[in-house]
Amino acid sequence: MTAVLSGTELARNLRAEVTAAAAALTGAGTSARLAVVVATDDESSAWYVRSIAGAARKTGIDCDVVDLGPQAKPGQIRAALAALSEDPAVHGIMLQTPLPDGAHFEDLASAIAPEKDVDGANPLSLGRLSAGLPAFAPATAAAVLALLDHYDVPLAGRTAVVVGRSNVVGKPAAQLLLQRDATVAVCHRHTKDLAALTRPADVLVVAVGQPGLIKAEHVGPDAIVVDVGTNPTADGGLVGDVDERAVSGRAGGLTPVPGGVGPVTTALLLRQTIQSAAGRFP
Ligand code: NAD
Repeated sequence: MTAVLSGTELARNLRAEVTAAAAALTGAGTSARLAVVVATDDESSAWYVRSIAGAARKTGIDCDVVDLGPQAKPGQIRAALAALSEDPAVHGIMLQTPLPDGAHFEDLASAIAPEKDVDGANPLSLGRLSAGLPAFAPATAAAVLALLDHYDVPLAGRTAVVVGRSNVVGKPAAQLLLQRDATVAVCHRHTKDLAALTRPADVLVVAVGQPGLIKAEHVGPDAIVVDVGTNPTADGGLVGDVDERAVSGRAGGLTPVPGGVGPVTTALLLRQTIQSAAGRFP
């Protein structure tokens, strides 16, 4: 039996925590505020930003969407991030992707003040995380660990394999697993014989963006599989990177898509905004 490791309950608990903390902050005279900088007219990005803004407002966090338009120049984006970093009324800053041609995400995210970098986008945050120093982790990577903890998945001394090495998910997830004393391997598009590397994993984290990439042959018996992938389907739905039907019955647990990592990611982004507003850099 493969357990469904839903993120719904955890996300609900986190949102309740954030709502209480936001109300306490407001009572003390601080309105927590998240700013999302957008420079695209991409429809799925717009959907994601609307869902973050809606979730923020429901928990009592103000959310400003700073829409610079798809023609924005890198200099404008950088200037907007720098201005928000200086603005004492803003506590969390996110840079939404995709970016216009010629704009480099990590380069621009360097303009986000680390103490407001609630989605861990500034390379300084990833560097600090890697060095074991306090930093905001990218919310998605933090959500992977939060889900594993929620389901009491042991990590110390276990073999964890991360498929995907992006700066926003794969690399920080690997660093967070290392911090928890897992033995970590990272696979990517050049990995030869992916299944041979993933099969021994006690914990398999998949963040690629390729539906059905992970099949039964990639998963060892009783492995815990965290599916970070979100791939839109033709009928307007969403599927992960794991072939759910193929691995069920073999994996010990699998996070669903939708309803797994996604809602926890949003809730953690809000929690990190509250932490920043309360002056509690991690
Ligand atoms: P990315 O495109 O930046 O990185 C993808 C990674 O997958 C790369 O490191 C690449 O080397 C690797 N890869 C590609 N093909 C591979 C293959 N055949 N075998 C092994 N590795 C391969 O993507 P990302 O931003 O890291 O996002 C990954 C997925 O996670 C996407 O589906 C994205 O939509 C999703 N995502 C979900 C959330 C959430 O909150 N649930 C948040 C961020 C990203």
